[in-house]
Amino acid sequence: MSPPLVDPFQRRITYLRISVTDRCNLRCQYCMPEEGVPLRPRSKILTYEELLRLGRVFTSLGFVKFRITGGEPLVRHELVPFLAEFAQIPGVGELVMSTNAVLLSEHAEGLARAGVQRLNISLDTLSHETFVRLQRRDELDRTLAGIEAAQGQPFRRIKLNAVIIRGVNDREIPALARFALERGLEIRFIEFMPTSKQRSWRGDRVVPAEEMREALCAEWSDLKMVREPGGESGPSRVWAYGAGAGRVGFISAVSETFCQACNRVRLTSDGNLRGCLFADGQRSLRDAMREGASDEDLAAIIRSVVWNKVESHRIGREDFSPIDLGMSELGG
Ligand code: SAM
Ligand code: SF4
Repeated sequence: MSPPLVDPFQRRITYLRISVTDRCNLRCQYCMPEEGVPLRPRSKILTYEELLRLGRVFTSLGFVKFRITGGEPLVRHELVPFLAEFAQIPGVGELVMSTNAVLLSEHAEGLARAGVQRLNISLDTLSHETFVRLQRRDELDRTLAGIEAAQGQPFRRIKLNAVIIRGVNDREIPALARFALERGLEIRFIEFMPTSKQRSWRGDRVVPAEEMREALCAEWSDLKMVREPGGESGPSRVWAYGAGAGRVGFISAVSETFCQACNRVRLTSDGNLRGCLFADGQRSLRDAMREGASDEDLAAIIRSVVWNKVESHRIGREDFSPIDLGMSELGG
């Protein structure tokens, strides 16, 4: 196993986010338009065999953490047996998944058995009405049932993720924090980020992390920071609340960037490797594989993407323009 790849800004890149599909069973306002995004033809999506091969190449380059995401990963057929194989690749240290939990009741046990260690579950509201408005599907009950099912399995950790949009769910910040605290789950509040695919982003709809913290302080005056971004906490700053029993993070790409702690690259479901969610520039590992590339050729592409990682995204700066892909296509 080679030592981890290091980018030009001395960041060790050991984490790959893998989008296994661009399909989804929800239509979150902040992620895609109501009609959804044009889906990539199935022939363009990486097969499980291709993903397993890439898993072996990435681990040979010192990658240890892999997050399965999408779209909604659980809508992809036969995902659980694939993950069981992926988890067995030597060098896969952490296998984790992001999901909206709608299908989790059916799959929680299989995922835990397959070797998925941790889950991040999206939950932006506890109100049916807001769920239908924000997710554009009436699936709150199945989402909550999915969270409960996951809590019955031996996952090492389950985190809740809530994207907060002013005027939609910002008043629910304390209720969501209470929901997490009562269940012993860490919750992370995410600033609404711009992509060109949802037309709903506007600067004044972003609730800055600082304001989210104030909303929590009104209820828990003991809120205090316990961890800076990086390492286990990923891009969020972690704070404790509720007499130290609760953990809350804030992912604030817009108001407080965390790029200096970035340790990741992303693979889209059609096989493009990207160094940054918000910067142009990607290389197709799929085309390379389908044109007969050797593992060493694939490793060279991965090294070049790492070497070309930008120092920081440009959200909030005058020269920022959203890239032409939605989160469900990028593997947000
Ligand atoms: N479908 C799964 C889910 O929703 O958890 C996994 C894919 S989803 C694209 C991954 C994460 O991206 C979710 O936590 C979602 O809330 C977040 N996300 C999507 N669009 C976003 C946006 N415009 N701003 C901030 N976070 C966003
Ligand atoms: Fe689907 Fe996740 Fe995007 Fe919502 S955020 S539309 S659940 S991919």
